[in-house]
Amino acid sequence: MKLNLSEKEIAPLNSIEEWEEDLIVRYPEPKSSTKTKEQYSDYEYSERMNMVKEFYRLNHTYQTYDFVKNKQEEFLKFDKREMSFWDAVDFLNTLVDDSDPDTSLDQLQHLLQTSEAIKADGHPDWFVLTGFMHDMGKVLCLFGEPQWAVVGDTFPVGCQHSDKIVYPEFFEANPDHYDERYNTKFGVYTPNCGLDQVKMSWGHDEYLYQMMKNYLPEPALYMIRYHSFYPQHRENAYDHLMNDHDREMFKWVDKFNPYDLYSKVPVPPDAKALRPYYEDLVAKYLPSTLRF
Ligand code: FE
Ligand code: FE
Repeated sequence: MKLNLSEKEIAPLNSIEEWEEDLIVRYPEPKSSTKTKEQYSDYEYSERMNMVKEFYRLNHTYQTYDFVKNKQEEFLKFDKREMSFWDAVDFLNTLVDDSDPDTSLDQLQHLLQTSEAIKADGHPDWFVLTGFMHDMGKVLCLFGEPQWAVVGDTFPVGCQHSDKIVYPEFFEANPDHYDERYNTKFGVYTPNCGLDQVKMSWGHDEYLYQMMKNYLPEPALYMIRYHSFYPQHRENAYDHLMNDHDREMFKWVDKFNPYDLYSKVPVPPDAKALRPYYEDLVAKYLPSTLRF
């Protein structure tokens, strides 16, 4: 299966950060100081809405069971390039958000703000490291992948799409929606089989999880693997596929989410000053080079 995609279909968003900006609108911080609907002009707001909607239309149309299988085969060989963690950070940082100059921060800043907020709350060092690396999988964008195959809420493929997933109506364009193998409540899975058995829509979460699975404690791996699984950690739509161990581990996913969404601060952390701390932390857990 080869998709022939136009430029607009590869990049419906001005930048992949639009997805996370929209998450904050959908899931505002309880006592919020972040930019929400009211702070955008009507025009700005509806423009962004249309862009995000188109992004989800493409995501829901193309993320089929077969699409995920193909992406796994393509990327989980990790034969694209070999880099040190720090080269990967620099590489990721070439992905800048130029759509929103006043609030936009580079990727490194999002990672640092997340990890510094975790550190400030006194969590263990592997949790801090998890915050610092959780979006490294976004390098997929730099390999030319469409935005909707890198970011966006993730969901199980191979079984019925929950109507709790954002814009569920767009699944009507997904061929799996009409495929009897995949369109029942359990599809190719069995009740409470455990998420490890379940294929998720393809994106930066699963890619980084597979890269890191030998190096970090299990709670860290759950946070990385499921941080975009909003249909579960916010909507509880797939409990029927989870086992007790998943439920236990999702306490960590829940703990991580506010740091990811609400850790933007007005004064950005000093990346240069913090570098030695993070160098030691990375060296403690990760090998000197990683395969992408
Ligand atoms: Fe992410
Ligand atoms: Fe993030």
